[in-house]
Parts: sequence; C-alpha cells; structure tokens
Amino acid sequence: MIPRELFGEEHEIFRHTVRRFVEQEVSPHHAAWEDSGVVPRSAWLKAGEAGLLCCAIPAEYGGMGGDFLHSTVVIEELARAGATGPAFSLHSDIVAPYIFHYGTEAQKRKWLPPMATGEALAAIAMTEPSGGSDLQGIRTVARRDGDDFVISGQKVFITNAQGADVIVVACKTDLAARAKGISLFLVEKDRPGLGLGRLLKKVGCKAMDTSELFFDQVRVPMANLLGEENRGFYQLMSELAQERLIQAVRATATAEAALQWTIDYVSQREAFGRTIGDFQNTQFTLAEVHAEIALCRAYVDRCVALHLNQGLDAVDAAVAKMTCTEMQGRILDRCLQLFGGWGYMWELPIARAFADARMARIAGGSIEVMKHIIGRNIMGKA
Ligand SMILES: Cc1cc2nc3c(=O)[nH]c(=O)nc-3n(C[C@H](O)[C@H](O)[C@H](O)COP(=O)(O)OP(=O)(O)OC[C@H]3O[C@@H](n4cnc5c(N)ncnc54)[C@H](O)[C@@H]3O)c2cc1C
Repeated sequence: MIPRELFGEEHEIFRHTVRRFVEQEVSPHHAAWEDSGVVPRSAWLKAGEAGLLCCAIPAEYGGMGGDFLHSTVVIEELARAGATGPAFSLHSDIVAPYIFHYGTEAQKRKWLPPMATGEALAAIAMTEPSGGSDLQGIRTVARRDGDDFVISGQKVFITNAQGADVIVVACKTDLAARAKGISLFLVEKDRPGLGLGRLLKKVGCKAMDTSELFFDQVRVPMANLLGEENRGFYQLMSELAQERLIQAVRATATAEAALQWTIDYVSQREAFGRTIGDFQNTQFTLAEVHAEIALCRAYVDRCVALHLNQGLDAVDAAVAKMTCTEMQGRILDRCLQLFGGWGYMWELPIARAFADARMARIAGGSIEVMKHIIGRNIMGKA
C-alpha cells in the first residue's frame, strides 16, 4: 500500500479527537437525525466546542488557525462513520471561506467567530428552481434602492437552510449581463421577506437538511454586499475548486470505508459451506475495488497537497470530483452486491452510503459540467 504522506503529527492528533467526537456525538444520534431531517443546533455547538468547525480559519477570527488538512480530517472521519448529516464542511469549508476571502473586516468579525463556535450557522444559495448548472442564468434579482439592495426571487436545494443564521445569496445585480452581472450578499435569517420553504425529502443524505428559500422584496444594506458588485460569478468560480476537492476527498474516504465494511462482512458471512470471502469472485471484485480506490487516493492526495499551496486549478479539481465520485458510485454498487439482501436494508451503513453517494455526481456541479470544464480547457476553448 502506498503510504499517505500528507499529514503531520498535529493532524493525526486532531484526527483522534475528531474520531472520538464522531463516535460519541454523531454516530449514536445519526439515525434520529435522518428521521427528523435536521441536525439539531446542540450538535453544532458541541462540534464548535471540540474545534471541528472553521478549522482552517485564522484564530483572530475565531477559527482554529489550521489548514485544509484539518478540514480534510473532519471530512474523512465523518465519511468513515457514514455520517452525512452534519454539513460541517459546507459551513466551515465552503461558506466560511467566502466570508474570509471576500468579506469586509466588519463582516468577518461579525460572522466568523460565531460560525466557529456553532452559534451561527451558514448556508449558500446559488441554485434556483429554473436551474443550477448555468449559474450565469440565475434570476434572483438584487435591485439597488438608495443605500440598500432589494432582493426578489427563489432558491432551491439549499443545504443547512433550516437553521441558517446567515446565507450567502447569489443575485443578479445587472440583468443585462450574464457572468458580469452577479453579486453575492450576506442575508440574515430575520430579514423581513425571507421565507423558508419546504424541507425537501431526499433519496439520501437524509439528516442533512435541504430546503427552498423565498425572497420577497428582502431589503439588505450596502454593507451586506460580499465582495465587489458584479464580481460574484468570479468569486463563485474561484471557491468552487475547493468545494469540488471536498467532494473528491469525501468520496474517496467513503469508498475506503465501504471496502472495509465489505471485507468485514464477507469474512464472516457463509454460503455453500464457506465464507463469501472465500469465493474467488469476491476476492477478484474486492481486488478491483481496492485498485480503483488506490488510484483515486493517490490523485486526490496530490490535489490536496497542491491546494495547500494554492496550486490546484479548476481543471484538476473537476477531474478529482468527476473521477472520485464516479468511482464511489461504482464501488458502492459492487460492494453492496456482496452483502446480498442485507445490502439493501437501510440499517446497514453500506445501504445508506449507496443512497447518500448519489448526490455527489449532481451537487456542486454535475459530472457533465465537470466534463464541460475539463474538455473546454484541454482544447484551449476556455
Ligand atoms: C442534496 C443536495 C444539496 C444541495 N445543496 C446546495 C446548496 O447548499 N446550495 C446551492 O446553491 N445548491 C445546492 N444544490 C444544488 C446543486 O448544486 C444543483 O442541483 C446542481 O448544480 C445541478 O443543478 P440542477 O439541479 O438545477 O440541474 P440542471 O442544471 O437542471 O441540470 C440537469 C442535468 O442536465 C445535465 N447538464 C446540465 N448542464 C450540462 C452541460 N453543460 N452539458 C451537458 N449536460 C448538462 C446534467 O446531467 C445535469 O445533472 C444541492 C443539490 C443537492 C441534490
């Protein structure tokens, strides 16, 4: 096995803390959270107390002052436990970086410290009912009115929306422009006119809340503009590389966990007087699964190393997301098969992982959008 060389001792100590937290504070409650469709605030507060939130945000803004490897540890340990409920990563590694990279000093001081403790929950709203792949075509409008902006429109599939205290909202500020007409806004949950829609029922990731949001003439001051006016699309594009890397990291860790669950299961389950693991078909299947994961593991670790030095570009991130999430889909299907009927039962982690994983090939840019990014770039058409 090729050893992983990414992590230092401090990351391994942190991994130990995160693993214990997940065993004690996440796994015992996850089934109940799947039933209710949300992770309660108390779990977020405990995660904040244990240092699991906003670990890559500098200490002066309340974070742990760690790096993307600390984030990677949190993502991997949740994946290893099959815990898709707490969207810690969306909050810490997707929304917090927008505020950290593009926020004013006042915005950073207002939101990052409570996000690190779990007192403030964050979400990001890009996707609309009319479509999510074509971000340049969004229809939610922020119209200038004196010193304010007035937001009207609708968003859908918004993770963490149920408990969110602040939402980064992508809006059109110049209706005539596409990419150059989008701006990002910080919208607080108690703004008049902001309505929370249905808690949507999903195929998987059932504990992670996903909802509609309605904006009916929501007035926000100029101070809520995040970054420059009409630069929102470029801000989204530069942050999406990390979002896609996160999906690749999660997919690879989930695949590794699934392989281990399968090895454990086929080693004890018997048929025709021997264990399922004694059949050559099982060993060949698991050998192929192992090899597929090992290649993704090498690639994704290399991407993480590049990302630590700001060297990961949009194409590599798209390759990582596409390859690792497709691999995850294939191997979960093959592993589930070796569990027989039990593999189809929700009570087994393999069944839940199979359903949970389907989202990764759609959310944060579908596989086809990844191919579009990669193809356009390698052909010099970007
Ligand atoms: C569980 C979950 C959580 C989510 N959380 C969030 C969130 O927190 N915030 C947020 O803003 N969004 C979120 N999303 C939305 C997600 O990012 C979008 O679903 C995704 O970008 C696809 O947009 P869409 O669903 O509108 O599909 P569409 O844009 O309608 O596309 C449908 C399909 O058309 C095909 N297609 C699209 N474009 C192309 C192309 N250029 N070439 C070829 N084929 C193409 C693809 O197969 C694609 O899947 C979430 C989605 C899910 C499922």
